[in-house]
Amino acid sequence: MILDKFRLDNKVAIVTGASRGIGRAIAVALAEAGANTVPVARDISKLNELAEELSSRNLKCIPYKADLSSVSNIKQMVDFVKKECGRIDILVNNAAVNVRKPAFSVTEDDWEKQMAVNMKGLFFTAQQAAMVMKEQAEGGKIINIDSTGSVIGLENQIMYCGTKGGVSQMTKAMAVEWAKYNIYVTAIGPGLTKTSLTERVFTDKELLNKRLQSIPLRRTAVPEDMQGVAVFLASEASNYITGHTIYVDGGWVIS
Ligand code: NAP
Repeated sequence: MILDKFRLDNKVAIVTGASRGIGRAIAVALAEAGANTVPVARDISKLNELAEELSSRNLKCIPYKADLSSVSNIKQMVDFVKKECGRIDILVNNAAVNVRKPAFSVTEDDWEKQMAVNMKGLFFTAQQAAMVMKEQAEGGKIINIDSTGSVIGLENQIMYCGTKGGVSQMTKAMAVEWAKYNIYVTAIGPGLTKTSLTERVFTDKELLNKRLQSIPLRRTAVPEDMQGVAVFLASEASNYITGHTIYVDGGWVIS
């Protein structure tokens, strides 16, 4: 039955940046599909709230606090999940920051801050999880969270766009290098989604209207719009897809 292929029962899923926004919505979706979900972020009280909400619905969740700009924190997190759950089947590499600045004002500190999470953190989390998946006959699924900013140039977001272009390319390179281990690597490219990351756009009516003119569906997204594609890419139903980014953007990048 086709719908059975979307189920994630007995799978262990790490979702980074799951204390709020898109990561939280994806963590809920994977848990609803049956996965034992490990939401990771720095704000442990928010993660505990999520765990309480999920366990009140008899869904499995083990929250874990980590700063993913630190490679030693990433290694500890992956060791914890391996020890606690015995395996890692799914990684959603979602944590990111957006240091918005005109290009001429960017400092070395800004650059390091932007790269530490979006590039270094994303790569080493994938590397550490893939090393665990490699030892499993079933391999695993890595889903990187990309952005329309990997295709479109956005004003005052030169570093963010650079990192997301990097995520697109790393997704392809990881997919090619790890296919032999049965590790599938894909990406989701959200369009403009209402979260704390985009508060600045949603409070600037002029900018919001400008953005809406570029989106054929003429609406912005909510984090829940990312849930269906995340479950699909995490599941057996997507087993002939690797290396690609799926844009969930109301048609923004094709318009
Ligand atoms: P958000 O609401 O700001 O959430 C970001 C998440 O990342 C939070 O859970 C945050 O948790 C975590 N995080 C940030 N730095 C971290 C660190 N050093 N260590 C661990 N966790 C860290 O953002 P969002 O809009 O949901 O974005 C989620 C993903 O979607 C990002 O990859 C973003 O680039 C992408 N995206 C978003 C949009 C949009 O319109 N919102 C569009 C395209 C792509 P803590 O603060 O608790 O650590």
